Amino acid sequence: MSCAWQRRLNRLSATVGERIPEPVQLYSLITLTFVLHEPDPASGDCACCTVVWPCDIVRHAYRLREGF
Ligand SMILES: [Zn+2]
Repeated sequence: MSCAWQRRLNRLSATVGERIPEPVQLYSLITLTFVLHEPDPASGDCACCTVVWPCDIVRHAYRLREGF
């Protein structure tokens, strides 16, 4: 999967956030974020954002997940 998916997810998440949150849908989006934003074993950077892992998106996903 690629970062194009992440951009699509971000738009979906924004849409979900504007309405009443759907916990199951939101949880699956968070899970997919963790799959996409894994640390690169070679560099230690996020494989999707290429910044030091955990990137902002992963941090945000962790905070969201704490709400479940
Ligand atoms: Zn990332």
